[in-house]
Amino acid sequence: MRIVDIREQSIPISRYRDAGIPSGGLTTSLVAVMTDVMRAGAPVIGYGFASVGRFAQGGLIRERFAPRLLKAGEADLLNRDGTNLDPFRAWDVMMAGEKLGGHGERCVAVGTLDMAIWDAAAKIADLPLYRFICERLQQASPPPRIAVYASGGYPYPRDDLARLSAEIRSFADLGFTRAKIKIGGADLGTDLRRIEVAAKQVANSARLAVDAMNRYDATNASEVAVALAPFKLWWFEDICDPHDFETLASVAARYDGPIAAGEALFSVQEARLLDWHGGLRRGTDILLFDPVHCYGLPGYLKIIDHFVTKDWPRQAFWPHGGHLFGFHLVAALRLGGAEITPAGFYPFAGVPSIIENGHVALPEAPGIGFETHDDAWRAFRALV
Ligand code: MG
Repeated sequence: MRIVDIREQSIPISRYRDAGIPSGGLTTSLVAVMTDVMRAGAPVIGYGFASVGRFAQGGLIRERFAPRLLKAGEADLLNRDGTNLDPFRAWDVMMAGEKLGGHGERCVAVGTLDMAIWDAAAKIADLPLYRFICERLQQASPPPRIAVYASGGYPYPRDDLARLSAEIRSFADLGFTRAKIKIGGADLGTDLRRIEVAAKQVANSARLAVDAMNRYDATNASEVAVALAPFKLWWFEDICDPHDFETLASVAARYDGPIAAGEALFSVQEARLLDWHGGLRRGTDILLFDPVHCYGLPGYLKIIDHFVTKDWPRQAFWPHGGHLFGFHLVAALRLGGAEITPAGFYPFAGVPSIIENGHVALPEAPGIGFETHDDAWRAFRALV
């Protein structure tokens, strides 16, 4: 059993349903990890991508991490009885020789390949990924439905309030009961009107989260927090620079509602710093770490372990990303719930199946189930 080839490609990815709206030139990496294992007359191929929000990491994948996997012997990649790939051992192979610190975005490159290896291993085991993870981590299988919310609400260059309102209405019509919109790109008055308009479409502002996309700082974060407090929002996300723990802690000391953080911190070492210095309150606040950006599942598990051993509830974790891989992790690890991007981030946009009262069922196909998602599947097929 070997990894025989790894294909990689960068593709553009837009935050908007209408890809014509400028979106900062964002890209992501797709990978296909091809094995010599045959299932139903075809080789097993694992698919992964670099989640959303950071840029593609093709250089690191091609030059460093894929060659290490291709060079590895069977003994380095397989489980103890030689019946499947062991994603944890594959992770060790990828990280061989990497120095501590300097996480940069290599964690994104590793996480992209890690996703594909989990997909391949679950397919070899003939299990949907969430069940495979439960088996691998020796946990009981959870019910195959998870809590979700709809994420979007980026500012529109024209007719912003009307288009925002229609977008959030469309989320509610799909069966979502909670949504998240962006703020921080305009003056405070404009953002407060956006919150009012969006909240109306999900019944009330307690079902609405806002994501400031790290736009505030020590000079204005407290003023914004005071203005947001009366809305009793579901949560207030990405308040300031991800490493500005001082500003974050000062908001946490004054703002009673839930704060969400961690989306742009990519290692357990950074997660510890957030815990020690960010002023976050266990039992109230939300942890957004993106499993793909945090060196994949092995890195993400270290972060969960850190917080759980400090008595944080697993339900505090709502992983960033809005894609199928995250859904499986939420189910297998019994996390709070998952983000879904019904409109933006084509070809990974859309809902995996019918949303009922803010919950969704996971695909039961072996692996992650990208094959069940028309647009994602088309993108991955082009790769192989
Ligand atoms: Mg965010």
